[in-house]
Amino acid sequence: MSNIISIGSRREVDQDWKDEGLCAETSPDLFFPGKGEPTTPAKKICVACDVKERCLAWALETGEEYGVWGGTSENERRRMRKELGYVDEPEELAA
Ligand code: SF4
Repeated sequence: MSNIISIGSRREVDQDWKDEGLCAETSPDLFFPGKGEPTTPAKKICVACDVKERCLAWALETGEEYGVWGGTSENERRRMRKELGYVDEPEELAA
């Protein structure tokens, strides 16, 4: 049996945790490194973050493509979403 999970609208997914994230106390640039720049500095902050699990769940559910979220890079989340069976829902169906 396939394990397909549809992506919810960003408006529908809980984001209360965002104010509690350690990244709120640091430079956003660290969490959105340019191409070829390391993600490790941001990931080191995520390790100690109390809302890491909720952050990662949000990034996976919403299909967040850019930056470090929940201690994962863009490529890592892309692989995780594929392994977990997430599928992108057309924008008109998500609204
Ligand atoms: S896990 Fe990382 S990206 Fe997510 S809220 Fe915490 S510090 Fe920010």
